[in-house]
Amino acid sequence: MNGVNGSVIRRLCQPPVIGDRQTKKTGDPVGLCSRGLSSFVSLVESVFRETFVSAQNSSEELTMFSISRDFSFSYGHRLLNYSGKCQHPHGHNAKVRITIASEKLDEHHMVVDFVRLKSVIGGWIDNHLDHRMILAKEDPLVEVLKKMGEPVFLVNENPTAETLAKLVFDIVQKQGFPVQKVDFWETRKCFACYSAE
Ligand SMILES: [Zn+2]
Repeated sequence: MNGVNGSVIRRLCQPPVIGDRQTKKTGDPVGLCSRGLSSFVSLVESVFRETFVSAQNSSEELTMFSISRDFSFSYGHRLLNYSGKCQHPHGHNAKVRITIASEKLDEHHMVVDFVRLKSVIGGWIDNHLDHRMILAKEDPLVEVLKKMGEPVFLVNENPTAETLAKLVFDIVQKQGFPVQKVDFWETRKCFACYSAE
């Protein structure tokens, strides 16, 4: 990279040669213009070539492998300070797509073993989110449901698809997986995405 960039810099620092001493001596204005144009075209071509090669090298350096796995679970929620159907307690059958990315593969030539992802993340979702009411921590329903012995999962913000996409992203990251993004389908047609990019 340094060599290529250095080469580009050097080429850019050299002004195009317009004519030469021999041409000037002959006083040939046509020769002057044609040589100057030729040098300029050559300069542009070389800069373009070096830039293109440099871009290709950068692209190679950014090559990433990624894998994705889908999970599904059912949950209930409601939105506070919101006017619409979602202000009332209701449920969804959610789908979550977790994408893990890595520049290198492990000894098994995997980004991460699907089985391990299912065990760790699928297990966490089953134990904490599946068939739970997911509510904002200040929701008055929390105390009511707790008194009834119902399982609730609390979040700091309104439990929207965006909030839950970030929640799952943070959990996957805390478990040590190099998560790239999480897509969270609240319904079949509506999903939110949270990514590291
Ligand atoms: Zn909803």
